[in-house]
Amino acid sequence: MKRDLVIGVDLGGTNVNSAVVDDGGRISHRAWQSISGSRTAGEVIDRLVACVETTMDSCGRDRVAGVGVGTPGLIPEGSGTVVYAPNVPEWVDLPLQSLLRERMGLPVAIENDANAAAIGEHWVGGAAGYANIICITLGTGVGGAIIMNHEVWRGSNGAGGEIGHMTVVENGRMCGCGAPGCLEAYASATAIAEQARELLRDGRTSVLTELAGGDPGRIDAAMIAEAADRGDETAREVMHRSATLLGTAVSSLTNLLNPELIVIGGGVIKAGDLIFGPVRAEVARRAYKWSAGILEIVPAKLGDDAGIIGAARHFMLTRTT
Ligand SMILES: [Zn+2]
Repeated sequence: MKRDLVIGVDLGGTNVNSAVVDDGGRISHRAWQSISGSRTAGEVIDRLVACVETTMDSCGRDRVAGVGVGTPGLIPEGSGTVVYAPNVPEWVDLPLQSLLRERMGLPVAIENDANAAAIGEHWVGGAAGYANIICITLGTGVGGAIIMNHEVWRGSNGAGGEIGHMTVVENGRMCGCGAPGCLEAYASATAIAEQARELLRDGRTSVLTELAGGDPGRIDAAMIAEAADRGDETAREVMHRSATLLGTAVSSLTNLLNPELIVIGGGVIKAGDLIFGPVRAEVARRAYKWSAGILEIVPAKLGDDAGIIGAARHFMLTRTT
């Protein structure tokens, strides 16, 4: 039997998703596992392997050539090791690629999750055909990736492209990385919700209280987008502030790297112009006109599938080179 299928895996904060990805970037044979409450590397790897096994059972194990995995954390090029993952403290110097290869008996390639999403968007998504792009994903954190001349730009030891940790406010909100004022502390979906909760604690009234059923802990970024869309002042203020700071970061990136395209993804982009309006306004106000003149700022196209598709593509590219 010809081994002609590649499985892509997206390891997220609460779930792991896997699927077969064909050579045109199309997805089939999806599987899913919750990793909520899985704290150790061993537990997470067990769930990841179980997820891939489900996909292999449905597509035919004998047809699988290998597995590409997008994972949080810093991975020095060619090492196959997650040296550090800010939101998973247990993951230090974890040789994830060889552990997975042993467990699954198949070739495995691992890639940083934000890079994987960018590779997916660059292959068959919103950035297809562009040479110089930046991808920003607003999720639990702010994922960032830079592709220059069609190649992921990784920096000297794999820590390049950490756009979420650009400082946008001097001595601002504390970020999970330990530094104050990072973009992630303002523009991640988590931070957007937290800032709305803070305004409510300060006595602001908002339709958010009703949308969350009276429990501020249930407020999420999607709820804030909905409230903002309905004209709620508190929600609009939070969205505008977060999007303006995102635009500040995008302006600096435009001046620094002169990209053709910036792709912004994550569930928050359903807010549409509430996000893209302030971002474009800041670029018009701050970026060098020569750079801003050619720049396109667009929503991501692949949604939650970008990581799976990009992880599989990463496997295909590393296998053939
Ligand atoms: Zn940070």
